[in-house]
Amino acid sequence: MSDTVELHPSIDGGLTQGSASFAGGVLACKCAERTVKVRIDSQVAHNHACGCSKCWKPEGAVFSVVAVVPRDSVQVAENGDKLKIVDESAAIQRHACEACGTHLFGRIENKNHPFYGLDFIHAELFEEPGAAAPQFAAFVSSIIEAGYDPAKMDAVRATLKSLGLEPYDCLSPPLMDAIATHLGKASGKLAA
Ligand SMILES: [Zn+2]
Ligand SMILES: [Zn+2]
Repeated sequence: MSDTVELHPSIDGGLTQGSASFAGGVLACKCAERTVKVRIDSQVAHNHACGCSKCWKPEGAVFSVVAVVPRDSVQVAENGDKLKIVDESAAIQRHACEACGTHLFGRIENKNHPFYGLDFIHAELFEEPGAAAPQFAAFVSSIIEAGYDPAKMDAVRATLKSLGLEPYDCLSPPLMDAIATHLGKASGKLAA
């Protein structure tokens, strides 16, 4: 593979497949002391690489790797006093460690939002192996907004495809369909 490019440390060497028996674990921030820990009692769903500018990325990464879990499976376990909401006005309220900047979970408080009830988390922060691997790449073109060279986008998409991550410039078709279904039912145009 001549022109593969680095995207995120947890996928650059190939995907690590998850374990069918994984039922959650503990997410930890990057602080050596008073580490923020969040307990997740669920496997992750819709894990994907995300190129948007809002999702948390480790130092140097071009993409975020982000998944969803049921909101009631998320429990702050240790040092929750260090968590601050990054942007109160955003649809997804990202709870981050104010010392190291790591996002522990993103929560939607608007009950009418299509993804209400799901929290966004980064499986690479699990202390345990076994979380489901990423399945696709979302908002790929958005990395340009964060300063990525547009001339390298062919290499980015080729790298994602070589990893088995279909690149989309929005979300994946099942998630776009879920949003549209929610909106269609909300407006009454689609039978509930
Ligand atoms: Zn921290
Ligand atoms: Zn994102």
